[in-house]
Amino acid sequence: MLSLIIHYDEIGLKGGNRLFFEKKLVETLKAKAARHGLSKNIRRLYGRYYVEIKPENQTTWEQIVSSTFGVSNFSIGLPCKQDIAEISQIAITLLGKESGETFRIETKRSDKNFALKSQQINEQVGHAVIMALHKKVKLKNPDMTCYVEIVDGRAFVYTKKISGPGGLPIGSSGTAIVLASGGIDSPVAAWYAAKRGLRPIFLHFHSYPYTTDASIEKVTQLIKILATYTNEYTVYMCPFVDIQKHIVMHAPEAYRIILYRRCMIRIAEKLAWKRKAKALVTGESLGQVASQTIDNMRSISAVTTLPIIRPLIGFDKKEIIEKAKKINTFETAILPHDDCCTVFMPKKPETYSKLEIEEEK
Ligand code: ATP
Ligand code: MG
Repeated sequence: MLSLIIHYDEIGLKGGNRLFFEKKLVETLKAKAARHGLSKNIRRLYGRYYVEIKPENQTTWEQIVSSTFGVSNFSIGLPCKQDIAEISQIAITLLGKESGETFRIETKRSDKNFALKSQQINEQVGHAVIMALHKKVKLKNPDMTCYVEIVDGRAFVYTKKISGPGGLPIGSSGTAIVLASGGIDSPVAAWYAAKRGLRPIFLHFHSYPYTTDASIEKVTQLIKILATYTNEYTVYMCPFVDIQKHIVMHAPEAYRIILYRRCMIRIAEKLAWKRKAKALVTGESLGQVASQTIDNMRSISAVTTLPIIRPLIGFDKKEIIEKAKKINTFETAILPHDDCCTVFMPKKPETYSKLEIEEEK
């Protein structure tokens, strides 16, 4: 058996609400583990979580934990008794497998019942490693670090810390409706919103049968990819053609896109009330395209009282693409599809909308 030790940081700062955040973290980890048919026996140990895992499941566990918001880092180590000889032997085995010349031992002793203090453990294990492997101790920037954790009647020894995505556990900030277009931006926006604890429920507007069903398939596929992080598959597909036709027939051409967006937001707001969501999320980035000027965003936001979260507001397109590649949504997002808004697209879209001001008059 191996030990998976999961550390979180920001949740640790939550004072009285800490247990609420931890519960959400464990719920997500358990749900993901269950999906892979893995053990759900995740235990809390002094401000960290601990799972006993079989070596053959190590890769799957690494994938699960490295994509779970709220995790700052994790390690796969070997468990042993709180016995300095046993701890030293494991340190020798682990460091012996690595090629560096210098090392340090870093101990955290949460279980104060163990007689030796952290510094004494560092010294004794360090001495054993020097004798067995003839490596040198270097406290600043060593080639290798061996971590020892003394917790709850047992010890763990490991040499690698793997970064998690940080953030807050899914659902700990409530639920939001994510307007998902099938393009590059909205999946990245959903990722950032989810990173701060929002559970995303997706909403896609399509113009089928005026367009193919490619956008529907793409959105479904993108949500599946995002589910590695969000663990959420709920998506609403909303037919939009009738609304578009109405706008095309009755409104000035330049205002079409803004009016489409305002209708999308109104529908999203209705869904938000139904699903107890507290915010809307879009992939808009200031000034990226004609419909995303600050004037137009003001006109679009005016139709709802819910907060519209725009996580990409300060991102350049290049940065969004880099992130989309990192979270694996890029390749799917660039597959061709007809955006519902390209049907009946105006030749010259309005960039200084004053619709909400007209409404006020
Ligand atoms: P994306 O890459 O996310 O498609 P974009 O750069 O194409 O964004 P727009 O088409 O102006 O920008 O869309 C801005 C935002 O409006 C999208 O990020 C998305 O949140 C929302 N949106 C646009 N079209 C749709 C749609 N068909 N269904 C749901 N939301 C949409
Ligand atoms: Mg788009």
